[in-house]
Amino acid sequence: MARSTECVFCRIVSVEIPASVLYENEQGIAFLDVNPLSDGHILFVPRDHYERLCEMPGDLLSRFVTALPRLGRAVMAVTGTDGYNLLVNDGAVAGQVVPHVHFHLIPRRPVDGLGYRWNAGKYSEGRADELAAAYQDALHHL
Ligand code: AMP
Repeated sequence: MARSTECVFCRIVSVEIPASVLYENEQGIAFLDVNPLSDGHILFVPRDHYERLCEMPGDLLSRFVTALPRLGRAVMAVTGTDGYNLLVNDGAVAGQVVPHVHFHLIPRRPVDGLGYRWNAGKYSEGRADELAAAYQDALHHL
């Protein structure tokens, strides 16, 4: 199993450093985020070291994410919330700080002061068709 001795999440997986672990299966491990965005914020990380989600083999990722609905139900049951944000920061420019794939499950409460800028825009004439064609082309060889 691929691990990195430098990686903080690999070191949690191999029990070299402590974490508040709440769930484990063959593919991954879930523990409390040490600096929670809200009470009950958890991280679910694959045991194997992949820096980015876009680098993971699809079959491994699909087995890994199977646990997410159950973890989501646990988040709501334990925190008494009705919803949570499921978030992956994939790449430093997207806010990824720890270079080991991880899903955040962040319980949300009304008026909790969290939130994010969602400055939705509009495409100029022709841009959506251009982009869709570029994506279709890229997906043939990626
Ligand atoms: P990201 O910005 O998506 O890379 O988020 C990394 C998250 O990992 C942050 O929310 C940190 O609070 C959390 N984190 C970093 N080190 C630890 C640790 N040793 N135990 C638990 N959570 C951690």
